[in-house]
Amino acid sequence: MGEEDVLAGRGGSGTIFFCGCNLVCVFCQSHGISQQALGRPMPPELLADLMLQIQRRGCESVNFVTPTHVATVDHARSSASMA
Ligand code: SF4
Repeated sequence: MGEEDVLAGRGGSGTIFFCGCNLVCVFCQSHGISQQALGRPMPPELLADLMLQIQRRGCESVNFVTPTHVATVDHARSSASMA
């Protein structure tokens, strides 16, 4: 169970979930994440630090999971450039 082998490798894949989705589908399987805002605000500097922690733990990839198609791309990109 988990991420595909090609992404996880031997060290695993470090997954960061983003919350909030603008589509609000009634059949959503991740309702808590997508529509109940269970996350917490994370400025790019903290997100960059989190990615570095994942790397130090030996993960071979950082896996962004987002319930929306548009909201987090700029945030993730700017954080990745700091890491
Ligand atoms: S995460 Fe997917 S299924 Fe859930 S509300 Fe958003 S688009 Fe719909």
